[in-house]
Amino acid sequence: MYFVSTRGKERVTGAHAIVQGIASDGGLFVPERFPAVSREELEEMLAMDYPERAAFVLHKYLDDYDKEELLAALRKAYGQFEDGDPAPLVKVENGMYMLELFHGPTCAFKDMALTVLPYLLRKGCDLCGIKENILILVATSGDTGKAALEGFKDAEGIRIMVFYPDDGVSKMQKLQMCTQEGENVNVVAVKGNFDDCQSAVKRIFNSAECQAKLKERNFLLSSANSINFGRLAPQIAYYFSAYLDLVSSEQIAMGDKVNFTVPTGNFGNILAAYYAKQMGLPVGTLVCASNKNNILTDFIASGVYDVKRPFYKTMSPSMDILISSNLERLIFEISGRDAELTAQRMQELSKTGKYRVSEKEAALIRENFFAGCTSEDETVDCMYEFFTEYGYPMDTHTGVAMHVAQQYEKYREDSHDKEEIPMVVVSTASPYKFPQDVLYALTGNDVKDSFKGIKRINLLTAMKVPESLKALRYKTIRFKQTSAADKLFDEVLKFVG
Ligand SMILES: *Cc1c(COP(=O)(O)O)cnc(C)c1O
Repeated sequence: MYFVSTRGKERVTGAHAIVQGIASDGGLFVPERFPAVSREELEEMLAMDYPERAAFVLHKYLDDYDKEELLAALRKAYGQFEDGDPAPLVKVENGMYMLELFHGPTCAFKDMALTVLPYLLRKGCDLCGIKENILILVATSGDTGKAALEGFKDAEGIRIMVFYPDDGVSKMQKLQMCTQEGENVNVVAVKGNFDDCQSAVKRIFNSAECQAKLKERNFLLSSANSINFGRLAPQIAYYFSAYLDLVSSEQIAMGDKVNFTVPTGNFGNILAAYYAKQMGLPVGTLVCASNKNNILTDFIASGVYDVKRPFYKTMSPSMDILISSNLERLIFEISGRDAELTAQRMQELSKTGKYRVSEKEAALIRENFFAGCTSEDETVDCMYEFFTEYGYPMDTHTGVAMHVAQQYEKYREDSHDKEEIPMVVVSTASPYKFPQDVLYALTGNDVKDSFKGIKRINLLTAMKVPESLKALRYKTIRFKQTSAADKLFDEVLKFVG
């Protein structure tokens, strides 16, 4: 299978797409076509365990990788998850399920892909005959950074550098990153918000001068951000797996539709669900949940993407994003794969902060997606009510998703839609990753200390505390550096020497 740029100027193999991260014309790599999964194949997948299902889905795209080796890498990656199943589906009530994706080493769903990406990248380098060392640059709104550091620590021939917005991540996220172990890692705080941070890293990627300077030092740039197809591919797998789990537990019959609600920031997770649907998974509506930073809600309602608006810091920092990079892939599909038009729109976005899709395209988006957003109070109330009613604690990002899932159910009632379609809400982080806000939501109490928060939530919910978070308390802080957004490349050069 080949991959093409959303802006039309490049066509490469899967290995190449993953190693390069972003296309040289500034576009994102997308598969040349969507590989189909037939009804018979879905039936076959029922008997598979999670790594086998994931290998099956990934190999449909990455057929230049050896399937057996891929499966072995996936087994190893998902072997690091607590309690066996990396993507358990939990039934809350009839027709309502949680897909828990936070049982990995850093307690957020990013682990689903970032435990696998190091293999995809290193093998990709071999397949492409690349001899240089790889330098991974990551801009993070919190969870990606830690998951990438953990995935790549001490990987041979690879160095990784993570940039996070100085005031834009939770205390726990910051602690997770700044205590990271490994000889090949570096972490720097950037003055500004996530978009400043992401734009600054993108500028390095798009600069021929920066690339040349790195090449002199025998380094090749790559990205572990969710624009990398190697991040997207493993995420497609859990939508298949959730569906198959619903079938094998007799909640639905094979062929029935399922809806998903996804707490959304950079549009990577929900895009993976859209890809699964394009491959033939019986998916109904994809519900795109946003917090107060509701640019996607407005876009899906109006067809106008407009970044000229205030940026809010919320309790769900991994969703505090105004420029959702992965949306470019959806825009490309919706336009009928018109690369020229996509490039035009992305240029408009970077020049004027705004673009508009046609009425026809907007309607096509709304056929696939429903979007909603929540205020901080609504999120907190929803988390509290849900815990009181079902005894199920959720993190703040999942709280946003749950509230929007309820908005969607109300919208369906109001429009007299009687079709019964089960809803799977994607749970993206452990409640213990955001202990202060979660404790506040569940009890109304504020605690200053994250670890005290963890203890109180544990007493209240009896939910097991992840080992990796417990261990954080006694780790040394290794990284304290802060940099201005326009000085990041100086930091990079210092790091590679
Ligand atoms: C990254 C993240 C999100 C947003 O996912 P996208 O793929 O960026 O849309 C939501 N919740 C949590 C906990 C995250 O870490």
